[in-house]
Amino acid sequence: MKNIIKRIATVAVAAMSAFVLVAEAGFGSNTHQIEASAAGFETAYFPGGVLQVTQGAYNQFNGYSHGSQNAFDLGGNSNYAAPFTGKIVSIYKDYNVVTLQSTNKVYYADGTLDYMTVSFVHDNNISDLYVGKTIKQGTVFYQPGVKDPTGKTTGTHLHIAVKRGRVNNYFFSGDVYPNDAFWLKKNTTIRQRGGYAWAVEYHPDIYDMRKHTIQEGGIFTIQPNGKQLYLTENGTRNLSNVSLGSSVTNSAKWKAMYDKNKRAWYFVNVASGRVLDINGQSVKSGQNVQIYDKNNCSTEYFIPKPNGYGSYILQTNNKQVAIDCYGSIQTLRSGSNVWTYSINYDNTQQFIFTRVG
Ligand SMILES: [Zn+2]
Repeated sequence: MKNIIKRIATVAVAAMSAFVLVAEAGFGSNTHQIEASAAGFETAYFPGGVLQVTQGAYNQFNGYSHGSQNAFDLGGNSNYAAPFTGKIVSIYKDYNVVTLQSTNKVYYADGTLDYMTVSFVHDNNISDLYVGKTIKQGTVFYQPGVKDPTGKTTGTHLHIAVKRGRVNNYFFSGDVYPNDAFWLKKNTTIRQRGGYAWAVEYHPDIYDMRKHTIQEGGIFTIQPNGKQLYLTENGTRNLSNVSLGSSVTNSAKWKAMYDKNKRAWYFVNVASGRVLDINGQSVKSGQNVQIYDKNNCSTEYFIPKPNGYGSYILQTNNKQVAIDCYGSIQTLRSGSNVWTYSINYDNTQQFIFTRVG
């Protein structure tokens, strides 16, 4: 990876923190890209300085009480800050649920721009908070706790759930995964990701993001981090296998496309015109990666999550599974297969995109 990551001068660091869906931001273009944020919109930031997921959504990680809930439990912080500037729109005192709604659209970690509403749950004392109170982004306003009239909540933590749009009531379960909502800052301490892919804002001083930014319509090679090997189709027919190859032929070039309705990306091979796809009807760990006709199946959509250093986890429709190269980064060679695997941040599942057309 070091030889392909150009070291360039820092440029406008503060302005380069987010994906941008330019069309939604109203800049008169239909092009989507992952690039510098636009002035006037906040990035939705993870509310703590430490990322420590103690329970995931739907009992995917440390399953206990979230069987039907899209919510994370968080530890590791004694205070939580507002992810964006917003207003408290509801309070439910039984659990001290405080629901904060963004004042303006904000950048989500999945690259979208939209209003966001977040419920914070379990603070023991919210006497300083009231409906209608405005809280500025980054202001500490909520603490972890055990507030729960049933007494089932033990262990001080924050339960957090996110809904897209402007929601006026409290909720325990959201409709957006918190890791698709919140960006980590460059200095966030990562202790436990919970098996999820988290977008980290760019360190633009250490790589040339103009060359490695995923832009809609751009043609890219896709390399596992640290290897001069490329995701390559073997043949152009439906179900042709995708493995690693050593040369940049058209079979190793992929056009990045964005589906606004799915809020996800797909990648069209230049040689075959078919899309990067996962074998099967739905995504699990251990399934083969192939090409297939684009048919709007959930297996062909990805949310690239930047790690802050120029590579991306290709998060699949299954939020805990990503595209992965079979083997260890040391053993990868031309011909190594590409499949799906649980998100573990190994270099075999961190991919560098390089624009070639
Ligand atoms: Zn919880």
